[in-house]
Amino acid sequence: MRTFNIAIDGTSGVGKSSAADLLAQANGMIHLDTGAMYRCVALAMKQAGVNPDCPEEVSRVLDTVRIRFLGKRVYLNDQEVTDAIRTSEISNLTSRVAALPAVRKAMTSLQQQTTAAGGYIVDGRDIGSVVLPQAPVKIFLSARPEARARRRYDEYRQKGIEADYSQILEDIQKRDWQDSHRSTAPLVKAGDAVEIDTSDMTLDQVTAAIQRLIDAAGK
Ligand code: C5P
Repeated sequence: MRTFNIAIDGTSGVGKSSAADLLAQANGMIHLDTGAMYRCVALAMKQAGVNPDCPEEVSRVLDTVRIRFLGKRVYLNDQEVTDAIRTSEISNLTSRVAALPAVRKAMTSLQQQTTAAGGYIVDGRDIGSVVLPQAPVKIFLSARPEARARRRYDEYRQKGIEADYSQILEDIQKRDWQDSHRSTAPLVKAGDAVEIDTSDMTLDQVTAAIQRLIDAAGK
């Protein structure tokens, strides 16, 4: 059991969540998937028919959003949304919604409160740079867009879902651009984060590399 927090940031589809899940189990920690939180906000806005360009409507929705995690399941205001937040429509909307300063402020504060006691592995885009700048272990995962699109494509096919590789690649590149060019908390590698390029690594190799950094920090 580790009592400090660990920040794992990186681009879309780089394997942050899978690595964080395995590392949380191995170290007796809790995985906080902040992407799922932003996805819930996007879904809530879609359900309420909110115009993301209207600050009043955005804050009204933010006031009502309640997000809960039960194991791997995600709940938005008591409705299970585990799969509903993973569609490509919600992925693209999330990237736009996550650029809104009011949304970032609300989620950052919720993430800081949740992790205040330590023991969390938090994955996202701005964890090492904004949410947990004091985290003793900060990882930045990267991979070539083609490698990420291929993994996503294989995941869909394994689940029996029809998928179009070129469309997935285009979506990933669009989200990369949106996430790195927004003015509030863009996707950046924190100065003191360790970068791992996972393009040619298996998930086991990635988790082993991060585990070595966790062990070194825990000594
Ligand atoms: O990690 P995931 O792909 O589920 O994140 C969905 C979207 O949420 C990202 O494309 C990004 O726009 C946003 N996000 C963010 N900051 C975080 C986590 C996710 O802006 N800490």
